[in-house]
Amino acid sequence: MAPDMKIGVLALQGAFIEHVAVLRQLGAEATAVRLPDQLGKLGGLIIPGGESTTILKLMQSFHLILPLRKLAQAGLPILGTCAGAICLAREVLDPEMNTLAVMDIAVRRNAFGRQIDSFEMGLPIPALGDEPFPAVFIRAPVIERAGPQVEILARLPSGVPVACRQGKLIAAAFHPELTDDLRLHSYFLQMVSSSDRRGLHGTVRHSAPGTQMV
Ligand code: GLN
Repeated sequence: MAPDMKIGVLALQGAFIEHVAVLRQLGAEATAVRLPDQLGKLGGLIIPGGESTTILKLMQSFHLILPLRKLAQAGLPILGTCAGAICLAREVLDPEMNTLAVMDIAVRRNAFGRQIDSFEMGLPIPALGDEPFPAVFIRAPVIERAGPQVEILARLPSGVPVACRQGKLIAAAFHPELTDDLRLHSYFLQMVSSSDRRGLHGTVRHSAPGTQMV
């Protein structure tokens, strides 16, 4: 990866420390980001798991919604895990929520109900190799609908999608940062390395206060 290529981890709430640790373990330069100014020059961004309502509320307070949406649309590689995946989705079902709305997917929050609201399973993710991925689901969402540009990366045995990719955006319903398996982060870093950053930055300079979620 280019030496100046930093990966930001959105550090408003949730499991951001763990993502920073994994990225550093993989030799990437990782930095916690909270403010629009810090988005400039990032090569990629991770939106962690946590509580999507809180994360989105804080994104709005910190005037991050519009700059993040513009960066995603301009091709900044973004990995959203669990609540982070919810933030990326165009649609949240029942109840609806305002999100970044940059991936053509509809997600259902807390889709596993109370009994098994946390579990770990060996999840086949062909893009990461033959070995199943130890996927940790914590009050996780599922992907209920995905548009034609969305590639499904992983499905539960029932067939329900739990990870997908659209261009440079990845949504995963589980927590890859809570296991020793670094393959999803490596996959993301490879995507960052192969991305063309021209035209990416300059999109966030005018991150004006007062930006509204729409
Ligand atoms: N249930 C949370 C939400 O709806 C997500 C949980 C998580 O990120 N582990 O935002």
